[in-house]
Amino acid sequence: KSTRLDSKENESKKLPIYLHKATLIQAVTDNTFLVVTGETGSGKTTQLPKYLYQAGFCKDGKIGITQPRRVAAITVAQRVAQEMQCTLGKEVGYQVRFDDCTSQSTVVKYMTDGCLLREILADAVLPQYSVVILDEVHERSLNTDILLGLLKKRFSNPAKATKGRSFPLKVVVMSATLETDKLSAFLGDCPVFVIPGRTFPVTCAFGFAVGPKDLESTGYIKEVVKVALEVHTSEMAGDILVFLTGQSEIERACDLLYEKAESIDYRYDVQDQTMEGLLILPLYGSMPTDQQKQIFQPPPAGIRKCVVATNIAATSLTIDGVKYIIDSGFVKQLNHNSRVGMDILEVVPISKSEAQQRAGRAGRTSAGKCFRIYTKEFWEKSMPEYTVPEIQRTSLTAVILTLKCLGVHDVIRFPYPDCPEERFILEALKQLYQFDAIDRRGRVTKLGELMVEFPLHPGLTRALLKAASLGCQDLLLPVAAMLSVENIFIRPGHPEKQKEADQNHRALAAKSGSMNDFATLLSVFQSCKSSDRPSAWCKDNWIHWRALKSAFSVETQLREILLRLQQKRDFPVETFEGNKSELFRRCLCTGYFTNVARRSVGKVFCTMDGHGSMVHVHPSSSLFDQEDKLNWILFHDVLVTSRVYVRTACPIRYEWVKDLLPKLHEVDVYELSSVARE
Ligand code: ADP
Ligand code: MG
Repeated sequence: KSTRLDSKENESKKLPIYLHKATLIQAVTDNTFLVVTGETGSGKTTQLPKYLYQAGFCKDGKIGITQPRRVAAITVAQRVAQEMQCTLGKEVGYQVRFDDCTSQSTVVKYMTDGCLLREILADAVLPQYSVVILDEVHERSLNTDILLGLLKKRFSNPAKATKGRSFPLKVVVMSATLETDKLSAFLGDCPVFVIPGRTFPVTCAFGFAVGPKDLESTGYIKEVVKVALEVHTSEMAGDILVFLTGQSEIERACDLLYEKAESIDYRYDVQDQTMEGLLILPLYGSMPTDQQKQIFQPPPAGIRKCVVATNIAATSLTIDGVKYIIDSGFVKQLNHNSRVGMDILEVVPISKSEAQQRAGRAGRTSAGKCFRIYTKEFWEKSMPEYTVPEIQRTSLTAVILTLKCLGVHDVIRFPYPDCPEERFILEALKQLYQFDAIDRRGRVTKLGELMVEFPLHPGLTRALLKAASLGCQDLLLPVAAMLSVENIFIRPGHPEKQKEADQNHRALAAKSGSMNDFATLLSVFQSCKSSDRPSAWCKDNWIHWRALKSAFSVETQLREILLRLQQKRDFPVETFEGNKSELFRRCLCTGYFTNVARRSVGKVFCTMDGHGSMVHVHPSSSLFDQEDKLNWILFHDVLVTSRVYVRTACPIRYEWVKDLLPKLHEVDVYELSSVARE
């Protein structure tokens, strides 16, 4: 065993960052703020925390490292624990939403940026930390941007910086590329430490398959598979990394690849004589971690590795040995959709800088090749220069509430690294007002202080708190948990199997006794929980057991948060007369009255939030094909294709939202905006 660990240690000594260990430690010692930049794979994420630990930075407090992506936090923590020869969760641990793998002895803590934001909420000066490292800052995730602003505000003034702390905090900001001058300027012209990298040339070729007119089609999956096989059969040894957008298409591509790779005749087809096979590995966020470990292992001799990944492999994780990149040109992104007034996950063209980043992954250890399946015209006409920061394209409701709870009253003049448009800030304030989280003067209400404790969408939190005040949290806690994990319903790609799954899912909905998708979620949760063999139960019912297992854990955690809050003296208490089904849906109305639609003609509903969008019921909903019996519905989210579909919905009565709907129009955003500036 020790030889294996020794070799890991030697491996890490070969990383570019190793030569700069001493100067880097010195730079952190000398500065409050430091920007560190270097090529992806140079060792920033895995090595710097280790160096600081070895240099004694953990004597007074912990080292915290944030990642925008939860898989990255988990995977990197595993790796570093191995390198430091400790059990994960002891000296080295991680924390992501609903999954805490740390202990009393944890001193190097990897976490998502959302987790650190929650810790700031608990204590703004972060007394438990000696060093905070914001990693992957170039990704410009919403939470990382907010953290940058908060840390600058709190710690850039030397007089304020040590208030409430016994020793000063060190802030290190790490970024793969670009914009480091801007970052340094933002942080008061702090020094920039550049880790010189070695990269090899990557030749890029454009394809013919995807042009500017193909934005809506998913034909790129087949094309990617075709190109991957061409590379496998005609290029010299070296692993392949394919970029697609998400789990379902990655699994489809892997199935296709597997099918086709079976029939390759290695005696004649492969140029490299020793080639004997293709090892196909998917890589996406919600993948089981034991499966993820394989990604990093070198393939057996004579076998070529082909990793089919989401954007996570662009900068967060580095896979050694990759020589060929196949770039689909697309990414899944959360964007605010002004047509429906909600944030929606959509597949969009990547930016040119993103495409360059992807290509660069082929040139880490030797010269490489990047095959773009899109045309030069697509590059010129459909791809933006840079990726727009998340803060400028998604809903700010939760973040603005967090800022308000941190005492940042003027949310318009907060030091954002890039300012969101004022109308997005106003939209967030309006929503918070509608949920009773802030009052007309923009001050956080008692309810708002309760709401901020939950790592959920504010609407869902609002419904949950309503239920808790009525003593029926057992209806909403499982639902909130089920809506917080990945989709629990299995959707097989095969049409026959899909039919069978659909039938099973409809039966589950019927079992819940009402035409209500939220009730179905509750019923699935309860049936499985009370089953003797829950995993078998899931298999029989086409339910993802792993997802449901996380829902169980999430429910417990939400229940704990709620219990803690209910022990407070002034937790609201209300009463209600009526049956359970009505009670359930009325609680939902309190949080989802922003997502209410009324049937207009035929099967078409019209939303009531002022956007007046025309929406349809999605075929996966138990309300599908029952539209003519319905007048008013409420929904959790929407799917936008050529039409707008509502998913996870239930019928409601107008009387239940009658008093709530006017709130959607009553707020004067100008009043809120003048208050926001005070
Ligand atoms: P950076 O943060 O500068 O992009 P990293 O510290 O993430 O660089 O990666 C440094 C090296 O560590 C890379 O060569 C990568 O392949 C290796 N590495 C990182 N995580 C793992 C892992 N889980 N298993 C094996 N190797 C890993
Ligand atoms: Mg990194």
